[in-house]
Amino acid sequence: MSDRILMDSFSRKVDYVRLSVTDRCDFRCVYCMAEDMEFLPRQRILTLEEIYQLAQSFVALGTRKIRLTGGEPLIRPGIVELCRQIAALPGLRELCMTTNGSQLGKLAAPLFDAGLKRLNVSLDSLNPERFRELTRTGDLAKVIAGIDAANAAGFHHTKLNCVVMKGRNDHEINDLIRFAIDRQLDITFIEEMPLGAISEHSRAESFFSSDQVRDLIAERYTLIDSAESTQGPSRYWRLAEAPEIRVGFISPHSHNFCATCNRVRVTVEGRLLLCLGNEHSADLKAILRGHPGQPHKLEKAIIDAMRLKPYRHNFEINDDVQVVRFMNMTGG
Ligand code: SAM
Ligand code: SF4
Repeated sequence: MSDRILMDSFSRKVDYVRLSVTDRCDFRCVYCMAEDMEFLPRQRILTLEEIYQLAQSFVALGTRKIRLTGGEPLIRPGIVELCRQIAALPGLRELCMTTNGSQLGKLAAPLFDAGLKRLNVSLDSLNPERFRELTRTGDLAKVIAGIDAANAAGFHHTKLNCVVMKGRNDHEINDLIRFAIDRQLDITFIEEMPLGAISEHSRAESFFSSDQVRDLIAERYTLIDSAESTQGPSRYWRLAEAPEIRVGFISPHSHNFCATCNRVRVTVEGRLLLCLGNEHSADLKAILRGHPGQPHKLEKAIIDAMRLKPYRHNFEINDDVQVVRFMNMTGG
């Protein structure tokens, strides 16, 4: 196991990497994408081999946790084999994935066998019509079947991710919690972030704060503040009525989580993003393709890029586009 560590200029240890494996998706969620998205041409996206080389270098530099994301990671051909290779890297503690769940019905068991440890599944509504409206193309029954397949395959503490939007799904919060309790899932409620220009709705008008979510939950459950943390943006609570599940909140607007940030992202174009809310980045694809078979060059570029990691993000609640990247390009 590597004893090297990545450190930024604020002495934050960076040991968690989110790798995007595609910018494409079978859904078009209204907060994430425009309806008519243009996706990247093939030659600009990393090959599976290049993604694996990135994972190797990060793990050699002390990365303990990798999350595969996108776009929708499960529509990338070869994803199960990529998981198998990355999960086997010595020193990596946890390989996880964030998915919309649409392909889990057939892929949950092979992914579990390949060594994937944990899943986050996005679920914003339990009403089939509303689910279709929010995802534009999604089939709720398929996603629920996917979640059940994940439980049956052996995944534990799968986490639901729910972006809450005023007037769209805020009245479903306690139903989603009931769903999580019934299936023994954790659940995290997310404030919408201003990533990419969208015209479907006003992000300012649909803003629903985590405090408002907690007020609604408190009408039906007893929330207990918990000190648990993953060094990330989530703050966790437990329910007196169902203490086995965790209820998390990601509140980039109302809670600044930057001081303990331990993560970076790599887009499917091989751009290392040092912060979700800023444009600071380094081009790792140029190194991968310019110096094939020279992992020390890649490692040096990653170490050097840590100097670029800014101290904090600066999201504001208005409709100005503060980060031009869409979330599917960022690797959520
Ligand atoms: N397709 C997968 C999925 O939906 O889980 C993985 C990628 S998606 C970009 C990752 C997460 O980002 C999802 O949970 C999604 O709800 C969230 N997300 C996308 N756009 C967002 C936005 N503008 N604000 C907050 N969360 C967003
Ligand atoms: Fe696709 Fe995930 Fe974005 Fe929805 S949130 S459009 S499922 S990438």
